[in-house]
Amino acid sequence: EDGGHITAAHVDALVRKHAPMCMRSLHENLRRDKHLKHYGRLQYNLFLKDLGLPIEEALVFWRRAFSNKTDDQFNKEYKYNIRHGYGLEGKRVNYPAKSCVRIITQDQPGPQDNHGCPFRHYSQGNLSAALTAHYGLTPNEQSEILTAVKAQHYHVGCTRLFEITHAKNGVRKGDGLGNGESASHPNRYFERSFELAKD
Ligand code: SF4
Repeated sequence: EDGGHITAAHVDALVRKHAPMCMRSLHENLRRDKHLKHYGRLQYNLFLKDLGLPIEEALVFWRRAFSNKTDDQFNKEYKYNIRHGYGLEGKRVNYPAKSCVRIITQDQPGPQDNHGCPFRHYSQGNLSAALTAHYGLTPNEQSEILTAVKAQHYHVGCTRLFEITHAKNGVRKGDGLGNGESASHPNRYFERSFELAKD
């Protein structure tokens, strides 16, 4: 499952185990709605590319995920953008996966959107509900995160979630993603989580 050898079938387990909340939310919404809107697809596609999901597997993944669409709809409406993200269409730019700063500051999500950073863009109620549903955090654990977020320290909230969910791997408060480093890129968050699981 290391870089370049991920298949469409690995995505569910890898994302549920190692992805930061922004990508986990996109994934769960994709599974629930069998669809993601444009900026959500963009954000998640580049994340999966950076994870090492090859384009052939990305097309399998998205085709299966959009199970309500016909092949024709999929090919016409979605395939181009997925390939575009891999630098295979249009100007053929190999776009980098978005950093936290870009996700937090650009392309602000509207009420119907699922992209963005949950720590920045969710209401306190929705953030709390997601922390319970996806991570089983206690009210005590949540209150620390919600306090950081209220003070607009979104990365601190995300980093604290990493510490809490990796306590079983020996991560302690203040360790962050390693050496006290805070979350700055969803793919670095994923990689660090993945490395810890191998120890
Ligand atoms: Fe994702 Fe970064 Fe927000 Fe964490 S701080 S949820 S990694 S965008």
